[in-house]
Amino acid sequence: MAAPLHSESSFEGKIHCDSLWFGADLVTLRDGRYNIIENGAMAVKDGKILWIGPLSECPDFSTGQRTDFGGGIVTPGFIDCHTHLVFGGDRSAEFEQRLNGVSYADIAAQGGGILSTVNATRSATHQQLLEQAEFRLRPLLAEGVTCIEIKSGYGLSEESELKMLRVIRQLGATQPVEVTSTCLAAHAVPPEYKGKADDYIDLICESLLPKVVEEGLADAVDAFCEHLAFSPDQVERVFNKATALGLPVKLHAEQLSSLHGSTLAARHHALSADHLEYATETDAQAMAASGTVAVLLPGAFYLLRETQCPPVELFRRYGVPMALASDANPGTSPALSLRLMLNMACTLFRMTPEEALAGITCYGAKALGLQDTHGTLEANKVADFVHWPLARPAELVYWLGGQLPCTVVYRGEIRL
Ligand SMILES: [Zn+2]
Repeated sequence: MAAPLHSESSFEGKIHCDSLWFGADLVTLRDGRYNIIENGAMAVKDGKILWIGPLSECPDFSTGQRTDFGGGIVTPGFIDCHTHLVFGGDRSAEFEQRLNGVSYADIAAQGGGILSTVNATRSATHQQLLEQAEFRLRPLLAEGVTCIEIKSGYGLSEESELKMLRVIRQLGATQPVEVTSTCLAAHAVPPEYKGKADDYIDLICESLLPKVVEEGLADAVDAFCEHLAFSPDQVERVFNKATALGLPVKLHAEQLSSLHGSTLAARHHALSADHLEYATETDAQAMAASGTVAVLLPGAFYLLRETQCPPVELFRRYGVPMALASDANPGTSPALSLRLMLNMACTLFRMTPEEALAGITCYGAKALGLQDTHGTLEANKVADFVHWPLARPAELVYWLGGQLPCTVVYRGEIRL
């Protein structure tokens, strides 16, 4: 007897899906705009969106699971595309010392600053780093993050950078969130290489990066281009090596001064250039031409009490996609809420709520090279989405802090 046609996808002539979700307005963020489908429906199969549209046009799917949201809005899962979530210790004591009037020089003399994090990260075990990162990941997940990028960069030795990257990979394998891993060995000059930054770049290019690739530990390579870190020439050597090894690049650029790192990043077709307070018009033009995303980090801007805002108006004019991220790190942005970053980006940088939301969905995905599979509610994309009992998407930006109730769906299933 001949098998029925399409036996896997049809049941009594109906198209089968694993689950059907309806009864809310779908804020799709398609093309970086709200693009709302009022009273929408989504059919999910194999962890992906099979069909999306108005409920009134929904095909008659056969499914075992139907969920009526009963109102509210649904957004794509949030994407935090720039974090340093894995590190040893924290710097809350130093934060308090500064506010109690202890000088930077005294704190540095006591081994404070990034060096204290490097020492704590080097001395921590894999398991300790994992548990501390899980603790910091929890609040981000609770508010709807379904994809997060995490960088190395506090080991600054071959052994400790590899340790950090393995912890990042393990988080991705064990936590209900998609984790992308970025090797940021060129974050700072390690104490052992003081005055010999070129020798450290040699180590990264000739020894560390090949090992990272061999073990499959990174999805991208990042560097910090700044007077207090690495020069454009040194960054370019790292970029050339990464490209030769088949890894895309990203760059911390123009945070404290203008070295045109973002133009350099664009020339190397970087996924993103991040921070960008001091980016210029030529930087914006170069980024637009290469499709490099501008990742803005209001948490660091806030904590450092910066006054120079990134040139949002130039990015708009030249059509540079803008993403937002927590930059979660122990020194300049101990931020564990992406939704708070939405508000800060609008209040401090004058982004619109629509731009801000696109920055943690549609363009957050692009900053990670995941734009074909993540970041919007569209057919064939991953079924990562969040239901909020809210009237309109601007509420996500407007409420300042706190945990809004929400239901997170990850790969088509409710994440508990
Ligand atoms: Zn950073």
